[in-house]
Amino acid sequence: MVSRTLNSELRTPKLTRLIPALLDWFAANARDLPWRRTCDPYPVWVSEIMLQQTQVKTVIPYWERWLRELPTIKAAAKASPDKIHKLWEGLGYYSRARNLQKAARQIVEKHEGKFPENFDGVLALPGIGRYTAGAICSIAFNQPTPILDGNVIRVLTRIFGISQNPKEKETNARLWKLAEELVATAAKHHTTRSRRREEAHSEIGISQSLLTPAAAMTGNCSALNQSLMELGALVCTPRNPQCGLCPVKKLCVAFRENRVNDLPNLGQREAATARHFVAFVVERNGHFLIRQRPAGVVNAHLWEFPNVEIGARLSEPQHARLRNGNGEIPATKAIRTRCGSGDAHSESVANAATQALGFTPAKVAPLCTIKHSITRYRITLEAFRARLGGRSSTTTQLMVAGGVRPSETGVWKTPAQMRELAFSSAHKKLASAAFNCILSDR
Ligand code: SF4
Repeated sequence: MVSRTLNSELRTPKLTRLIPALLDWFAANARDLPWRRTCDPYPVWVSEIMLQQTQVKTVIPYWERWLRELPTIKAAAKASPDKIHKLWEGLGYYSRARNLQKAARQIVEKHEGKFPENFDGVLALPGIGRYTAGAICSIAFNQPTPILDGNVIRVLTRIFGISQNPKEKETNARLWKLAEELVATAAKHHTTRSRRREEAHSEIGISQSLLTPAAAMTGNCSALNQSLMELGALVCTPRNPQCGLCPVKKLCVAFRENRVNDLPNLGQREAATARHFVAFVVERNGHFLIRQRPAGVVNAHLWEFPNVEIGARLSEPQHARLRNGNGEIPATKAIRTRCGSGDAHSESVANAATQALGFTPAKVAPLCTIKHSITRYRITLEAFRARLGGRSSTTTQLMVAGGVRPSETGVWKTPAQMRELAFSSAHKKLASAAFNCILSDR
């Protein structure tokens, strides 16, 4: 059934009518993004990795800084892990940055520093999947390699009226096949506009990398793939798509059948889960106690204040009920109350502090609360200022508490030293709060 549908989609002249509509629209409407001013695969690759799960406006300053600090693949391969993490600080999904460096090292070792130009060679690099390899090969080398990301899935399911869930294997394969046919058809499509552009460039003898963004996009494969992504980002948006402005509305099944808001069919979303952490800020002579997250965990290798998760993980509705006063979050309520009163509440704080720090602080007081989200987790980070006891006991406590060696307990750093290290977003905010609050008190 699906293959019959697919064959009829591929036979229809609709596919060939889509190409000029998309190419012309893209030539006139493409955003002037910095990575569109070049066909060098390295900056294109960096942009594609940064753009995964992240919006264009967030990526631009990160991309500019990365290319300024690490202008070549060799420079990326040689950079220290701390530098790589610092350049990525705030973008999230840090394994992307580590894989980028691993791939850069592989390119230096196996390809003499030259980015591979064939799809299989690109796909073999760490951190590069089918979508990214297709995007790099089409954008940098104008090869007819398909792409399928969230934007393209939305555009294709709507244009072709595909009501099955795109995560299902068969539907996903059908979408890849459509993307492949589209870019292959674009490769054969020779518009008057592209012919004129090519003639003009060869007459004046300018190199591709010196062209303006619009002129640099001479290749139809590059332009077609980017037009699908751009249409999804600017016009065929998840909510309130601008169908009236869409270059392909006459060919769009969802528009014709009034099904735009039903597609794509992404099934039921996984429920959000509330999680609660408590962190402790300890300061000694202008130095703060921080630690580095180990490998193999979320936010691996990033720096943070000592912290511990408390309470059960709760679904959003459960958490909402608790927020409304119809329940109680285990341990959390205790933490919210004033500390140091010697009752059960202070005991909870002391337990959490002992667990996070490896020793029991003399006093604990609320500092700030930071809320943020990572994937489906809604996280509350409640921070406390933990004060050390007597001077003589301090060092001993920190060095031997609970049998924890100093390297595992943490290290003491000044604010200036901390600014050189990469923190997760929540702990970076906590660091600012700590500097403002604690250092200004002194
Ligand atoms: Fe998307 Fe509307 Fe264009 Fe169809 S007509 S592709 S739904 S913006």
